[in-house]
Amino acid sequence: MHISVIGSGYVGTTVAACFADLGHQVTAIDIDEEIVNTLNEGKAPIDEPGLEDLLERHVGDRLEATTSYDAVPESDVTFLAIGTPSNADGSIDLTALEAAAEATGEALADKSERHLVVIKSTVTPMSIGDVLEPAVHRGANDNKNIEVGMNPEFLREGSAVSDFMHPDKVVYGTRSEWATERLHEVFEPLLEGHDADIVETDPATASMTKYANNAFLASKISLVNDLGNICKEFGLDAYEVMEAVGLDDRISEQFLRSGVGWGGSCFPKDVDAIIAAAREEGYDPALLEATVEINDRQPERLLELLENHVNLDGSRVAVLGLSFKPQTDDIRNSRAIPVIEALLEQGADVVGYDPVAADNMAEEFPNIDYAESASEALHDADGTLVVTDWDEFAALDEAFDAMANPVVVDGRRIIQRRDGLTYEGLTW
Ligand code: NAD
Repeated sequence: MHISVIGSGYVGTTVAACFADLGHQVTAIDIDEEIVNTLNEGKAPIDEPGLEDLLERHVGDRLEATTSYDAVPESDVTFLAIGTPSNADGSIDLTALEAAAEATGEALADKSERHLVVIKSTVTPMSIGDVLEPAVHRGANDNKNIEVGMNPEFLREGSAVSDFMHPDKVVYGTRSEWATERLHEVFEPLLEGHDADIVETDPATASMTKYANNAFLASKISLVNDLGNICKEFGLDAYEVMEAVGLDDRISEQFLRSGVGWGGSCFPKDVDAIIAAAREEGYDPALLEATVEINDRQPERLLELLENHVNLDGSRVAVLGLSFKPQTDDIRNSRAIPVIEALLEQGADVVGYDPVAADNMAEEFPNIDYAESASEALHDADGTLVVTDWDEFAALDEAFDAMANPVVVDGRRIIQRRDGLTYEGLTW
């Protein structure tokens, strides 16, 4: 098939490269010329394991990038993978996606064959019928050949390619048999030989499935963190407790690692968006509000543990890990951000280290120091906060000896060494 993918960010680039790898002809469209040029050089505009290999292999052959929507009508199906950030009140900001939906419609105004426009972005359930479908149809001058569907994306940054290629489930939210068949054709090469479940439903239910998924996972982590904080108050090791808890099939052993909380581009904005959408309907989602509150508290608890041992004013504090999780350079809503803000407020002198995310964090905090290695960050530090569980931190050993004061507060249970350190685990 010929597929056009609008938006070449984390999701769009991954989806475009993977569709090309599955044998489809793909045109990636983005308004950002720099992203388009990078893609056409066979390079990845983002840091994702395996992505550049796919781009090197397929750019110039089955995959091309452009800033023009001209390829849209030549394709069979168009996926929209545009960002859906939050407004100040947490509600979903559909501005960019609505503009792209309308531009997609405009490109399809004269198309005489049927064409499916699929929303890949995460959108609140009513957004498709109330905003996005009307935008596509408005752009297309009500061309009856154009249909809109929803196919939420469940990939995780840091393992985006592998997640896309090996999904647990693929959800088709459509309004017709024809649209479902088109999505089957798109995903057939991916699903062959895999035992992923296919869910066929309507667009609003497909949208809600994505929110329910993320709200469930974020709440699971916040619950585990709440229980972890209680364990710490009792002087207990939350990991020992949760290892036993996870033996229960109804709970599962996944997502039971307590720590400094969740971040990234999805959980925070998606939980906020579904809370705001629920409130708009007059419902007070009490549990999801607590999920957010507990998450906000975890970085504060990390700081409090450090303050038990170090007077932060004038002290040099190393922050190990700046990305919101390992294997990505994405710092959006990283727990390192409130941690650094609080350290600066308390008068600390901050040095950050991350294997790949330092440049991104330097845009957020240009005035703190950035080290080239974890060892360099630890040198002469009066305390260390471990915020991201990059594997290399597990191997740190002698580097702690170069600290002025070896106080280590671990927010991810990644540091192996304990001897000769004042070591505090966040929930253990
Ligand atoms: P992103 O911000 O990384 O990328 C969006 C891209 O769209 C940017 O490159 C931007 O230049 C481009 N763009 C904006 N307006 C455009 C237009 N009119 N025409 C063409 N291109 C345009 O966003 P993302 O992280 O890829 O997320 C996209 C959507 O997917 C969001 O709704 C997000 O919630 C959802 N999602 C993200 C993830 C994730 O891990 N990042 C996972 C699942 C779902």
